[in-house]
Amino acid sequence: MQLFAIFGDPVSHSRSPLMHNSVFTHTHYKACYTRVHLKDGSQLRETFFKLKLSGANITVPHKEAAFAACDEIRGFANKVGVVNTIIEENGKLIGYNTDADGFMFAIEEFKAIKKVLILGAGGTAKALAARFLEDGIEVSVLNRSEGRLAFFKELSCKVFSWNDFRISSYTLVVNTTSAGLKDEELPAPKEMIDNILQATDYAADAIYGKVTPFLALAKEHDIRFKDGADMLLGQGVLANKLFTKNRLNKADIVKYMQKSFLL
Ligand code: NDP
Repeated sequence: MQLFAIFGDPVSHSRSPLMHNSVFTHTHYKACYTRVHLKDGSQLRETFFKLKLSGANITVPHKEAAFAACDEIRGFANKVGVVNTIIEENGKLIGYNTDADGFMFAIEEFKAIKKVLILGAGGTAKALAARFLEDGIEVSVLNRSEGRLAFFKELSCKVFSWNDFRISSYTLVVNTTSAGLKDEELPAPKEMIDNILQATDYAADAIYGKVTPFLALAKEHDIRFKDGADMLLGQGVLANKLFTKNRLNKADIVKYMQKSFLL
């Protein structure tokens, strides 16, 4: 029996255990997936081995610590320094990022995305910004503080803090901050968000399972919006393929993960 887990702080809201366990149960795959509330990201590696895990997902705020905890990084995660999936291979930790492709899957229904404004500058923002740029999409980043903006400037995004924000028009605005996750906060001052939503075609939130204050405001502005559920599904399917080493059929993984959303 293999054991998998999600690490985060907070982590009690996470639907990943339900999603992966639904796949394991329905396909009779001998594995179980649990959650670990980890406060200190520097303890990730030690905790992973202590629990004898075969793999893990990493959520807020430990994705950058997860990158540092790995022995080897594969694929897109190398580009952004952010890891959301870890696999144990012969005593080594191998890191991947499935968030960015998961998000691209989620926004397939939004057509002709040309200019994106990302709210927040954490691990998720890094993955999305790099992925959007790969597709030739113009990216601006707005964060409440300046400290984390250097990475995005280097990538050639337009970068702003709340103090120096200059608005433009956007096809899509994405909330990647954790504002609204545990609280009822907006990702930036209300007037700023109102102005942004007036200049935007679509809105998306990485947070799932609730209508965040940001999405409630998007609804008031009558623009098309979606929460992070499809992103969750997209990243989860890719992570499950890594966990099960491609032994399961992708259509089955999608079907059984979607089934868990009804629980
Ligand atoms: P990080 O901790 O790496 O980054 C958080 C960002 O949010 C920082 O830029 C921080 O700003 C900003 N922030 C935090 N609180 C506030 C606030 N009250 N107001 C404004 N800005 C704030 O987090 P992640 O990138 O790992 O995750 C971000 C969110 O995305 C989480 O809610 C997570 O649950 C969700 N997520 C969902 C996924 C899905 O599958 N649907 C996948 C990945 C993430 P500062 O730099 O100033 O501290």
